[in-house]
Amino acid sequence: MVMVPTVRGPVDVTALGTTFMHEHVFVLTADVQQNYADEWDEESRVADAVARLTELRGLGVETIVDPTVVGLGRNIPRIARINQQVDINIVVATGVYTYHDVPFFFYHRGPALDPNMPDPMVDLFVRDLTEGIAGTGIKAALLKCAVDHDGMNPGVERVLKAVAAAHRQTGAPIMVHTHPGTKRGLEVAALLGEHGVAPQRVQLAHSGDTTDADHLQQLADMGFLLGMDRFGIDTVLGTPDRVATIVEMCRRGYAGSMVLSHDAACYLDWVDPNILPFGLPNWHYRHIHEAVLPALREQGVTEEQIAAMLSGPASARAVRSCRHQ
Ligand SMILES: [Zn+2]
Repeated sequence: MVMVPTVRGPVDVTALGTTFMHEHVFVLTADVQQNYADEWDEESRVADAVARLTELRGLGVETIVDPTVVGLGRNIPRIARINQQVDINIVVATGVYTYHDVPFFFYHRGPALDPNMPDPMVDLFVRDLTEGIAGTGIKAALLKCAVDHDGMNPGVERVLKAVAAAHRQTGAPIMVHTHPGTKRGLEVAALLGEHGVAPQRVQLAHSGDTTDADHLQQLADMGFLLGMDRFGIDTVLGTPDRVATIVEMCRRGYAGSMVLSHDAACYLDWVDPNILPFGLPNWHYRHIHEAVLPALREQGVTEEQIAAMLSGPASARAVRSCRHQ
């Protein structure tokens, strides 16, 4: 039996059910919320998250993977408190999210002082994966890092190397935020490959931001799992184009290499909350069930293919537990 760590404890990988592979509960700037009372009301935000996740569970989604890590305001005790009030599996992550420099915390530590010194990030990641996070006993199930439009730079490269080292120690799978328009997945393949990570253990998040099926096929053929995971971010790519790309990839036989999600959050502080509902009206947990699945079915994607993208072996592979479990 392969067990996956979740907020409520280990779950058999075959019991995860319909899974959204990339949703956040909150994306925050922790020291802003801690200092400005009008920005954050803990009780109402927790209640709102419970309501939204309960609604999502009502659609039949039994598991979400929440890749919120350092740099995105991770707060696992808060997630645990929410999860006590809603019957859904929440899989959490460890890692560092940056497109540029490492956080200042790491600026003058480890390899920044001497290239031969171990990176303290690695021990933090491994501890989250093997012992649990912030004294909760809740273990991360995967590693998360990012490379965006600006590509590999010293900060991004340092995080990816630390993620690779933690992967080698624990066997935990990796999710990398990518920018497929600039084919960052190929750089991820080169760097992680050089550091002992097999593509089969890596999900390339945001692969669905491109319509370039040839590029996606190239990445899938290398063994990567493709996150078609930003449904509702219509300003980057509209739903019809995202759907058409999935239809084409299914036609080519790659349903088993894709996972579907929104990369949405109950609350994200990156966009003015007065603007967000108007600017991105479809960016919420319900969009896939309300609009995407009907469109896929209408365009000939089969139930078997949909199941493969929502609860199939690809999903299982992406959240398969670490060796230590
Ligand atoms: Zn995300």
